[in-house]
Amino acid sequence: MSIRENVAAVRERMAAAARRSGRDPDEITLVAATKVQTSETIREVIAAGVTICGENRVQEMTAHLEDNAYAGARLHMIGHLQTNKVKQVVGRVDMIESVDSLHLLEAVEKQAALIGLTQEILLEVNIAGEESKSGFAPDQVIPAAERCLEFPHIQLRGLMCIPPPVGPGESNRKLFAKTRQLFVDIKKDLSDNCNRLNYLSMGMSGDFEDAIEEGATLIRVGTALFGPRPPKTEP
Ligand SMILES: *Cc1c(COP(=O)(O)O)cnc(C)c1O
Repeated sequence: MSIRENVAAVRERMAAAARRSGRDPDEITLVAATKVQTSETIREVIAAGVTICGENRVQEMTAHLEDNAYAGARLHMIGHLQTNKVKQVVGRVDMIESVDSLHLLEAVEKQAALIGLTQEILLEVNIAGEESKSGFAPDQVIPAAERCLEFPHIQLRGLMCIPPPVGPGESNRKLFAKTRQLFVDIKKDLSDNCNRLNYLSMGMSGDFEDAIEEGATLIRVGTALFGPRPPKTEP
């Protein structure tokens, strides 16, 4: 199947999941998770109508930016970001979805202040409490959201989570529901009347339909658009 056909198939499944849960399909945006893809492939997925690309690695992102590969789309950072790479990311992406510590939050504020812009972010929640994963513990999300208000160069737009991969017959629905509840809680806590807090990023190739049924507004999909990736190599 071509990328164009894959995009169409994913959109069909997105729309069906939205209808099943009584949601408007237009509320949900597909983010193409473009790690390990070439600039050419990225152009292809944008030509097929994808409006947001999500990158994991700063080095790959920088190379694609030099190629102007994301032209016509928005760009999100979705991978773990080291504070020493913040300079290469703040102001170059429309949103950092993966703000996973107060330390990183402070570094983003500092860099955004330095270059004089406001950086949109999501807070990443370690919703399953996995030892190996970064992200805010569920009970740390409200304090972190309140902290964002003290930072004039940060605009908090919502939450993101990466639950563990699901095996056959398993589901992350409960974890998605838990993240959605936290999202509702921070909106209430921050009295978000102007609806700036409107992004809930959850769901990947294996579970995006469940995520949509539990309220996702951004889904991050790689494999279902591009096919399987080669085995992971650490840079
Ligand atoms: C790779 C990646 C995805 C997409 O994963 P697939 O299972 O290939 O759809 C989504 N989110 C993050 C943070 C990723 O790193």
